[in-house]
Amino acid sequence: MAKILIVEDNALNIKLFCDLLAAHGHQPEAVTDSRNAIDAARSFSPDLVITDIQLPHVSGLDLIRLIRKDEELSSVPIMAVTAYSARGDEERIRAAGAQAYVSKPISVVRFAETVDELLKGDDAAEIDNPESQANEADDGPGPGETGGEED
Ligand code: MN
Repeated sequence: MAKILIVEDNALNIKLFCDLLAAHGHQPEAVTDSRNAIDAARSFSPDLVITDIQLPHVSGLDLIRLIRKDEELSSVPIMAVTAYSARGDEERIRAAGAQAYVSKPISVVRFAETVDELLKGDDAAEIDNPESQANEADDGPGPGETGGEED
């Protein structure tokens, strides 16, 4: 069983994510206001953070960066969930410090698999140092990256 903090402003998604995680034996806790997310994470000590990207007040991207900079939280795996997958989004999300990215509407199977991988640390090969992608801002996906077909 893992403690999983969900940061999501949409009540239906919170219910869906919490139900899915609880069905897999995990202990979910949800925060709807991203301004409270860091404090909630410090007191809950999650094994994984799942965050929406489109959030009022503090965006998911900013929240990922704040977690990565936080002394207590910097090593917690982060899974981003987003309704948009505009060009370059995945690169931006990974560069901010998230290990995984799932598009909404979520595939229940993919969601559960990604959670398992992050909790097991199986995905370590894909956990990039954010610094290594620091140059993503000026252009599209690099060689070998996904996307770039929608011109
Ligand atoms: Mn949202």
